[in-house]
Amino acid sequence: MDAAFLRFLLPADAGVCIAAVAVTSGLVSLTLVTTGDGAICPKCWSVTTTVHGRYRRTLHDRPCLGFPVSFAVTARKFACWRTDCPRRVFCERLPELAELHARATSDLTAVHRRIGLSVGGEAGTRLAAGLGLATSPDTILRRIKDGPDEPAPRPRYVGIDDWATRKGHTYGTILVDLERGTVIDLLPGRDGEAVKAWQAHLPVEVITRDRWPAYIQVATAAAPQAKQVADRFHLLTNVREAVEKILSRVAADVRAANAAVNAPADQAPTAPVDTPPASPSRRPLSQARSGGRLRGGSRGRSGSDGSKS
Ligand SMILES: [Zn+2]
Repeated sequence: MDAAFLRFLLPADAGVCIAAVAVTSGLVSLTLVTTGDGAICPKCWSVTTTVHGRYRRTLHDRPCLGFPVSFAVTARKFACWRTDCPRRVFCERLPELAELHARATSDLTAVHRRIGLSVGGEAGTRLAAGLGLATSPDTILRRIKDGPDEPAPRPRYVGIDDWATRKGHTYGTILVDLERGTVIDLLPGRDGEAVKAWQAHLPVEVITRDRWPAYIQVATAAAPQAKQVADRFHLLTNVREAVEKILSRVAADVRAANAAVNAPADQAPTAPVDTPPASPSRRPLSQARSGGRLRGGSRGRSGSDGSKS
């Protein structure tokens, strides 16, 4: 491949140039050399041009035309000239290309982070492999943790409920963005005091909650404009309790009605001798064949036994 063609793989101000290109075993490998005149000491911010040595970095990048791409970067180590600086030697930074000590370019890192934020670690690994961006679940999760916090949109529908760090002993309060199904915050205690800190962040339209008095008070005080509704869990719980209460009250009547309905069938007299059964098709074949010749008890084993009256 042509080096000029592959130049588009690199950021415009990456501070490197392509020294060589090699395509082996379906892998595109670019040898890069840094081009800056000097570097800035990360401790004292002095500019230095004294090269102390060189070292090699390997960076993996996004695939190009379906081929995996890696950069072999020859970077430099610089010596700080200031005698009062605690950092004698430092590695050259390539902020536009990759983070310090990273083994993947910033572009590839960002893609992994976006995949992880979209579908999670395990599913993200399978998706990334299909896209030629093979990685591991741990790496995707690490990319998410190391990445900048995404600005969260202001929630419109918020759920407030308690949660237990130790059931029966220690409880906190959880705020949930019901539109996105994400946790907004975990707060200590469930007396509503911690929620008051959220007062400025609660210009919400709807708050769902249970009937815990502290939550009623804090929701009313913190977001008076919001409509408060009982959450689905507690509504269903209330319905279940109401149905159980009604059924327990009328249980005796239900049992009596059931007995009355089933009584004729349970106490039904045996079929008359000459009356054919109501559903001969459901009788055993032996009975069906001899049914017309039977006398007396035509049900049960009498027919099959061949007993006749
Ligand atoms: Zn320095």
